[in-house]
Amino acid sequence: MSKIRILPDALASQVAAGEVVERPAAVIRELVENSLDAGSTHITVEVQRGGTAMIRVVDDGCGMNREDALLSIERHATSKIRTKEDLAAILTFGFRGEALPSIASVTRFRIATREKEALSGTEVEINGGKLSSVKDYGGAAGTLIEARSLFFNVPARRKFLRTEATEYSHIEQQFIVHAMAHPEVTFTLIRDGAVAFHLPATKDALERVRGLVGDQLASRLIKVEPTEHKGIRVWGYIGGPGLSRSNRQQQITFLNGRPIESSSINYGLREGFHTSLMKGQHPVTVLFIEMNAEGYDINVHPAKREVRFHDGFAVRDALAKAVSRALEAANKLPQGHVPPSQMARPLPPQIAVPQQQSFALHTPAAPLALKPEVSISMPASRPAAPPARMLMPASAPTPTPVFESPEPIKPSFVEPAKPAPERGAAPEQAPEAEVQPESPREVEMPRFRILGVLHRLYILLESDEGLVLMDQHAAHERVNFEKMRRAMEQGGVPSQRLLMPLTLQVTPRDADILRRHQETLARLGIEVEPFGPNIFKVEALPTFLKTDDPVTWLDQVIEELQTLSAKGSSLRLGEDMIATTVCRHSIKANDKLAMPEIEALLRDLFACEMPYCCPHGRPTLIQMSLKELEKKFGRAAP
Ligand code: ADP
Ligand code: MG
Repeated sequence: MSKIRILPDALASQVAAGEVVERPAAVIRELVENSLDAGSTHITVEVQRGGTAMIRVVDDGCGMNREDALLSIERHATSKIRTKEDLAAILTFGFRGEALPSIASVTRFRIATREKEALSGTEVEINGGKLSSVKDYGGAAGTLIEARSLFFNVPARRKFLRTEATEYSHIEQQFIVHAMAHPEVTFTLIRDGAVAFHLPATKDALERVRGLVGDQLASRLIKVEPTEHKGIRVWGYIGGPGLSRSNRQQQITFLNGRPIESSSINYGLREGFHTSLMKGQHPVTVLFIEMNAEGYDINVHPAKREVRFHDGFAVRDALAKAVSRALEAANKLPQGHVPPSQMARPLPPQIAVPQQQSFALHTPAAPLALKPEVSISMPASRPAAPPARMLMPASAPTPTPVFESPEPIKPSFVEPAKPAPERGAAPEQAPEAEVQPESPREVEMPRFRILGVLHRLYILLESDEGLVLMDQHAAHERVNFEKMRRAMEQGGVPSQRLLMPLTLQVTPRDADILRRHQETLARLGIEVEPFGPNIFKVEALPTFLKTDDPVTWLDQVIEELQTLSAKGSSLRLGEDMIATTVCRHSIKANDKLAMPEIEALLRDLFACEMPYCCPHGRPTLIQMSLKELEKKFGRAAP
């Protein structure tokens, strides 16, 4: 039985390996998927040197008998599909029977496996595709697969491996997505002998997510309640406004438990996050999509990362709906994570720091009990007592910002405003959608104390939880944006007739854009009429517009129309236009605000539906909690 034989198509396997095994992380993906398919409840992944030296996956799944263990390393050997019909309804992860032979052809490979009832198991060794030994195995039930020296026999491919740290980070990413998708399985990741993750099985998806991303990030996630649209169910967790990433690493989506990517998903998320996401940024998501396996094709990507949906629009809409609903339900204040480079430097010693009377300065008797949550919402009915928390030890001098403002800014409390008027029912709300019980939107405005203005840019506020910085420009943008959007929905932005209509000469392409979007423009307060080939008459402009050069402004509007209509949905067009045009007409960053204006701005902001970010997704408010400050000042153990 131990006679060496060459697998019939070792070479073919190596070629296929190029597709399946791009890098160590891909090996992990295949092996972990197999372990999951085998019904394992414990999966341990161990790697050495970024997986280039050794990858080992041990599971307690069904195991294989000798015949199957030998078959598993033959090409196109799979226990998972037998017929074409099976292929159409694949729910297991593997299905091509290519992974093991491919991996075995480019590594020093070992399978040790035993079925639960079997007295003895089987151990098979393969070296670069050549079967080198088959023997009995007396280990635990389940399967151990080990792949050493990746690409040892294909130097050309070995060259393409990146640094061990990079390869490890891909492995970790791969591990994270699998562990997230299967909280019911205990997962362990061991890196160079040290446990990187140990995640006991749990029924709670969020607990698993927390174990993987840490408490801090997990506490900033918003729950997406199960939402169904055209038979597509979406649920999970997303980062709220102000939480985003410059790449898609933390945009994690699963389709029936399989981590996948798809452009429909990207579109859906973008649509759902809409103004809550900064341009060029990507959301943080852990979203589970569940649908009938006949609705998509998974067999389009060699590494099974991408899927093709038969109805991509439905998927997009399902995601958009689930996400926008969750965001609206959970307006949360983004926590400030100020990169050290942007942190305020300590005041130079020669600056006089008079005592600020308005602070309550006393040392708390008990240690601070601070909630880890991000939200700083607090009941509006709280008595307006001075903050009982210490801001500085009484003995230390309190640095006080020097205001340029002629009238000294007196700290004052700003009370919540009335709830914002309900918006009209979202037009995209399909009737068949499972509608979440719509709770009346209650505006819970945190109580703030205005401390001052920083560089005419940021309003400093004291909240119960710490220091809050408001970007006055971003806040104004949000307020103006929602005001105009409401106006647009309720019959149009107020406009002003021009005494002398402007004539606008445009290119044929622009003329087409103007004609197509005449109605949207009218709702935005811009009234244009065709006035000959490629000439338009501008009859009215929005009242908010304060520009000496309306023609240039209109040029920009047309340009925006063009880009937006090319990529966005027509439903959003008006909204997007407002988001791009109001920006320039909001208060400038350097405008000096008087106290009543600041108060009004705060009130208006909290009457908004989405107060915590501007229409472009930048945060309007950033909080530095006392806890964070304590850490920075070394007052509390980190
Ligand atoms: P596929 O997963 O596409 O079927 P693979 O090459 O990944 O192809 O695996 C081949 C076969 O080996 C599987 O169909 C399965 O029967 C068996 N197998 C692989 N890994 C395991 C495992 N960890 N536990 C039990 N059986 C396994
Ligand atoms: Mg497989």
